[in-house]
Amino acid sequence: IIQINHLKKSFGNNEVLKDVSLTVKKGEIVTIIGSSGSGKSTLLRCINLLEKPTAGEIIYNGENVLTPGYNLPKYRTHLGMVFQSFNLFNNMDVLENCITGQVTVLKRNREEAKKIAIENLEKVGMSRFLNAKPAQLSGGQKQRVAIARAVSMNPDVMLFDEPTSALDPEMVGEVLKTMKDLTKTGLTMIIVTHEMGFAKEVSDRVIFMDKGVIAEEGTPEQIFNMPKGERTKAFLHRVL
Ligand code: ATP
Ligand code: MG
Repeated sequence: IIQINHLKKSFGNNEVLKDVSLTVKKGEIVTIIGSSGSGKSTLLRCINLLEKPTAGEIIYNGENVLTPGYNLPKYRTHLGMVFQSFNLFNNMDVLENCITGQVTVLKRNREEAKKIAIENLEKVGMSRFLNAKPAQLSGGQKQRVAIARAVSMNPDVMLFDEPTSALDPEMVGEVLKTMKDLTKTGLTMIIVTHEMGFAKEVSDRVIFMDKGVIAEEGTPEQIFNMPKGERTKAFLHRVL
């Protein structure tokens, strides 16, 4: 569904992504692990073009989205993103958070948007909080709303950047559970995470990033049980 070819990204003369190539198939669950500063967030931000890659290609449905003139706003509507910080609209209640993008971006009528929002809020266990403001919610609840909001836009691919790392420990489980439920719906997901147990459990493929390159990739069994690279072994040794 997305093919990344020889992607590079520099900030000034700091080359953060050095020739990253990665193909994600429809329905695949790919997790990205690696040390702080290895370029995981930058890779996700390049995929949805919050950052402009310095070089390389991002092929989506057969077209390079970096070609001048490509319809980027349309492309972005096919990607859902959930960040570490919750990024909800604080002035809107939970329901409105999940409706507004559908109406303004997808041009859905309000009734339909509301129905879809409520369905998705039910799936993440937040239908009792439709009229709550984000400030009244716990971190885990906010993150579940953020997931419902993103899913309400019917994305082709969901990108997650450490969705649980800003949460109190007791809230991590509920968000991981919500994400795990999503993996069963056939949605394509690319997930940056420090939750190794979760990565092992849900991934079709695990990518280990180190210093701006994909140092190793494979099935969870390959990466967690029989890593080949020294750097992969050292990283897993540190975090497990
Ligand atoms: P973490 O696990 O801590 O989130 P990460 O793997 O997501 O780390 P990135 O956030 O992608 O790492 O950062 C990789 C490198 O890029 C870091 O050295 C960082 O300082 C640099 N960097 C990221 N964003 C910018 C930016 N907007 N301007 C300049 N440098 C940046
Ligand atoms: Mg990051």
